[in-house]
Amino acid sequence: MAQTKLIDDEAIERPFDRQQFKRLLGYLSPYKKEVFISFCLMVIVAVTSLAGPYLMKIAIDNHISIGRLDGLQWVLLIHVSANAIHAVCQRYRIRIMDRAGRTAIATLRQDLFNHIQTLSFSFFDSKPAGKIMVRVINDVNSLNGLFTDGIVNVLIDFLTLIIIIIIMLTINVKLTLISMSTIPLLLLVTFKLKRKIHHRWQEVRKKSSNMNAYLHESLSGMKVTQAFVREKENENIFLQLNNDIKSTWMDAIKINNLFWPCIDIISTMGTVLIYIFGVRALITGEITVGILLSIIWYSGRFWEPLNNISNFYNSILVAMASTERIFEVLDTKPEIQDSPNAIEMPEIVGRVEFDNVTFSYDDKKMVLEDVSFDIEPGETVALVGPTGAGKSTIVNLISRFYDVTEGEVRIDGHNIKDVKLHSLRKQMGIMMQDTFIFSGTIMDNIRYGRLDATDEEVIEAAKAVHAHDFIMEMENGYYTEVKERGSRLSVGQKQLISFARALLADPKILILDEATSSIDTQTEILIQKALERLLKGRTSFIIAHRLSTIRKVDRIMVIDDKHIIESGNHDELIEKKGMYYGLCQAQYKFLKAV
Ligand code: ADP
Repeated sequence: MAQTKLIDDEAIERPFDRQQFKRLLGYLSPYKKEVFISFCLMVIVAVTSLAGPYLMKIAIDNHISIGRLDGLQWVLLIHVSANAIHAVCQRYRIRIMDRAGRTAIATLRQDLFNHIQTLSFSFFDSKPAGKIMVRVINDVNSLNGLFTDGIVNVLIDFLTLIIIIIIMLTINVKLTLISMSTIPLLLLVTFKLKRKIHHRWQEVRKKSSNMNAYLHESLSGMKVTQAFVREKENENIFLQLNNDIKSTWMDAIKINNLFWPCIDIISTMGTVLIYIFGVRALITGEITVGILLSIIWYSGRFWEPLNNISNFYNSILVAMASTERIFEVLDTKPEIQDSPNAIEMPEIVGRVEFDNVTFSYDDKKMVLEDVSFDIEPGETVALVGPTGAGKSTIVNLISRFYDVTEGEVRIDGHNIKDVKLHSLRKQMGIMMQDTFIFSGTIMDNIRYGRLDATDEEVIEAAKAVHAHDFIMEMENGYYTEVKERGSRLSVGQKQLISFARALLADPKILILDEATSSIDTQTEILIQKALERLLKGRTSFIIAHRLSTIRKVDRIMVIDDKHIIESGNHDELIEKKGMYYGLCQAQYKFLKAV
């Protein structure tokens, strides 16, 4: 059975929330002037667009029907001028509000991004990167329409309705009331039917995003798919998702196509009613031809503002859902923050102490218990132990990505909770297992370690870690573009680039999560040499996976079951014949076997 789980499970609509809406409007408040000008222009736009039928009435009644052409030219001139003013004002209004709305959206997007960057690891643990991306891109974009013209337009639509009714009332009260008898029907269609149509389209969107997500997943996993010959199964899943879109689309179109005929029928009903009563009044001389025609023209204008208001209503509910998600992120406080009297971390010498550190990610399951150690400046420490023992947790605590539950982590005698986070992390280098290669040139990628480094310094660093030769062999040397997160580079090459990046940054404390992927012997030798150069003169923690790395380090700490169970250099631990000895034996046997 094909699995077609709904991936997009976030709310699409939310009820109107005044507080949230007010807060959202706050982003438009720097543009009060623009909103005001835009509103004034819209009033002119509304009045000029509604002047036409009234002017036609004057033309017919005062001139055409009585054969008096004198003065008709003025009526026509006013008509043309009104249209010209309408066009100019409309253009400026769109331009002004577009600029204000888009700047407000850009500010919101920037605020969101800046805030996300301050959030702690625990936030990213609880939310997949994809969902965070959707917030920054889709949710913010969905407010675009609201900011650029939605809010101003809806006010104008109300105003237009009122103006239409007032003009009609001044022309003829009885006929106005007759034509208004269709408004309840129009309301029903524009609000009830529109709402249904809107829901159907939302459904189509949901299905499409399901398919996009599946497509994205299949494309990234294509190698696995082909290796496991899963093409047929995937084809079926895709077929089902594709059919889902088709059938929801057909459903949506069916009901969507009902809208205009309904509007047409109601408008015609209104016109017929006006004719029935109007023609009689015309015959008795109660009204003129101009009055009759202008009332018919105006009554045909009811549906447009009503339709706009109902569209606005639908879009505001969608916007409320986006707003809620955006503010949820903006209101998340970073768990790791500078304490009010935090000091700047002085230049780090490199002493690292754990003093009875206990830690749990979720306050339930302990990961470390009463862990204590003292590392001298310049020492290289390898952390070894089974998967899930807590090696990464220890290095995460040194960089203060999480705060200890109990105990203290000190660097050069300073409790790291008492120093400014920025001043601490600036002096630390952290290299993850999955080397991050950005799109850009090799030069940019190495320079990421220190943005003000000159080209010569970058090349110097690359040479020191033996990356220079392979870089020079690439088509444009240091200026070769690496695309798709460095997919054209081998694991070893990526690692050498990240070593160069770290060397350029010259951190006082280096944390290295060694890559587990196997590499050829020649690259392995290069990496070892590069690593020795990199570790020189700084305190380093390596989550080590390879024997060759471990052998030369000053201290090996074996972590298991929440504690450090062994500590010493390679020879000492081998002598001890404990867990480390066992791990070495196992790895040695494994290496011999392959
Ligand atoms: P190692 O690096 O030795 O493989 P870790 O330090 O990554 O181990 O993990 C230690 C324990 O903490 C494991 O049981 C793991 O499941 C748990 N753990 C790791 N990261 C998190 C996290 N972000 N949230 C909750 N538990 C975690």
